Amino acid sequence: MTCPERGRRRNRLEERWSAGAKMNWLVKIVRSLGRGLADLSPDCKTATRLQSKALDRELPLRRRFGLRVHRSFCKWCRRYGKQIDFLRKAAHQHPDQTAEPVRQRLSDQARERIKQSLRANQE
Ligand SMILES: [Zn+2]
Repeated sequence: MTCPERGRRRNRLEERWSAGAKMNWLVKIVRSLGRGLADLSPDCKTATRLQSKALDRELPLRRRFGLRVHRSFCKWCRRYGKQIDFLRKAAHQHPDQTAEPVRQRLSDQARERIKQSLRANQE
């Protein structure tokens, strides 16, 4: 004759083991997904370089996805991306001002003051 209490205890242990095994599978899947995403995601140095490159040409799908993953958790690279995007838009909106460097020229009075100052120092 078997003890009913012993049978119930065994069933509970099997349920726990089964739940634990399922949790292990879940943990393994989540960990491998995390590792896969981490492998896809570039480091910050590479991410900034890729963002600059992406302004000139379309990146391959794997790179784009990796960059998106990286930017989803790195606020510094997100910020950098926003800044270069802003600069690009500003440069496109004012092409006349960015095409030629602005020539700085001193006034005639300032030139004369500098000349006098240099002469005074030589004497
Ligand atoms: Zn980053």
